[in-house]
Amino acid sequence: MQVPLLIDDFLRRAARLYPDKTAIVDGDDRFTYAEFQARVNQLSNALLGLGVGKSDRVCMLSPNSHYFLESFYATSQIGAVLVPLNYRLIDQDYRYILNHAEVTTLLVDHEFTDVIDGIRGDLDAVQNWIVCGGEGVAKHDWVDWDELIAGMPNTSPPEIDRDENDLLSINYTSGTTARPKGVMLTHRNCYINAYSLIAHLRVTHDDVELWTLPMFHCNGWGGVYALTGMGGTHVVLRTIDGGAIYNLIEQEGVTFACMAPTVLRTILDYPGKEAHDIRTQPRFVIAGAPPPAKFIERLEVELGWHFIQIYGLTETAPFLTSSQPDSVTAANDYQSRSRAGIPGIGVDIVLLDDAGNLVARDGESIGEICARSNVVFSGYWRQEAETAQVIVDGYFHTGDMAVWDERYNIKIVDRKKDVIISGGENISSPEIEDVLYRHPAVSDCAVVGVPNDKWGETPKAFVVLREAAKVGADELTEFCREQLAHFKCPTSFEFVAELPRTATGKLKKYTLRERERQATDV
Ligand code: AMP
Repeated sequence: MQVPLLIDDFLRRAARLYPDKTAIVDGDDRFTYAEFQARVNQLSNALLGLGVGKSDRVCMLSPNSHYFLESFYATSQIGAVLVPLNYRLIDQDYRYILNHAEVTTLLVDHEFTDVIDGIRGDLDAVQNWIVCGGEGVAKHDWVDWDELIAGMPNTSPPEIDRDENDLLSINYTSGTTARPKGVMLTHRNCYINAYSLIAHLRVTHDDVELWTLPMFHCNGWGGVYALTGMGGTHVVLRTIDGGAIYNLIEQEGVTFACMAPTVLRTILDYPGKEAHDIRTQPRFVIAGAPPPAKFIERLEVELGWHFIQIYGLTETAPFLTSSQPDSVTAANDYQSRSRAGIPGIGVDIVLLDDAGNLVARDGESIGEICARSNVVFSGYWRQEAETAQVIVDGYFHTGDMAVWDERYNIKIVDRKKDVIISGGENISSPEIEDVLYRHPAVSDCAVVGVPNDKWGETPKAFVVLREAAKVGADELTEFCREQLAHFKCPTSFEFVAELPRTATGKLKKYTLRERERQATDV
């Protein structure tokens, strides 16, 4: 028998088996699974009434909210395609993405209608303007979400013919370099990714997830499906705030959270931690950028919580590998646990050199991570040439450079374009950053290659110091020399107030390189 893998199975199961269990906590609002499913059905029926049909693109532009969770399922069960948008973009990005994806229906948080109104004259394909949250925002053509669904039936929308290879979402990548690309994920990609999360992150019915990860980022890494399917509880967090995070962990008994290392840093450095009586020992799942080994140690030793690292990309739905204590990695070996780890079930990873040959599993030879798996996307929306560049000979080429060992344990050394080549030697910038993070005065840092007449390139470190900390370039140079080969040590330091990052916490190294290039051109 073959039953299509359709993502709305996950909510249907929870609503059937746990109708009275708390599905979502969002500020003062709480919804059971029965209520969650009812609101989803109402929105599906409303969208059908507005003429939204199979394969039509519906955009969601919002910080985390219960509306966001509802949008995933309301669109999927009528065969529409969700386009979740990063809410920290600017108007020209929105204009580009909404037109590129030919979005017909906008679901927009009340704080973001102004930015859309600023470009509405350019959005030819949009027919439906729906606003959520806030009160009485009846500007222009905006229709209030709750008013729209109020009169709608809360029963399932009519069945339509669907296939597991149908598009579920188009997720525009954060674009650390060029124009964002629309990653097409199918029901099948996301279904299998959700199973992987459940297995490898040990997601259970008793889990309470704090949404420290933006839901727009690769559909919350698939957590919106995995946790729902198991009947866990979603605790919505709208903005990252240390105090709110500790309050919610304490009050709601949070057991699970996913985040980029930069959010973990906020949590570790929050000065008021001692005041909270926390009875759970949450599992923190970190990805998106290399986590410094020191962060893992602080999380587990200072707070007594659990660290799991995963690695993946939007193009892989995203789960590819995980690193956690097991037969490969000892619990107190933080250096080893800061690696991306070993492949999940059904993920075939190879590391290839420039000629397409496998690199040795010796922990030293560097190759590009390439993956073959059912979680790999079906291509970039209307960008066939770009798709053909990354899916070659049946493998998706990630652009991440890594080493691996005899146990297939993978360590990312850099993004392909971020590797520093000094005197012909490859230098991994995360390796230097990892050392800098061990210095007590360093709060945040980024290392990039800068032009050098003699060596071609040498590492330069941009450093954010902790409040009231005082340290100079000489001391940091000395510190690096004690722990790194001489040629890997930064040849210059710049102390800055903050570092440029994307909304998903990735360092925008190209901005730093560009700034440096302009400074040297003058
Ligand atoms: P995105 O598609 O925005 O999720 O970005 C994917 C990219 O994030 C990958 O290609 C990696 O460069 C980076 N990334 C994700 N997880 C990790 C990790 N655990 N360690 C290092 N880099 C990571």
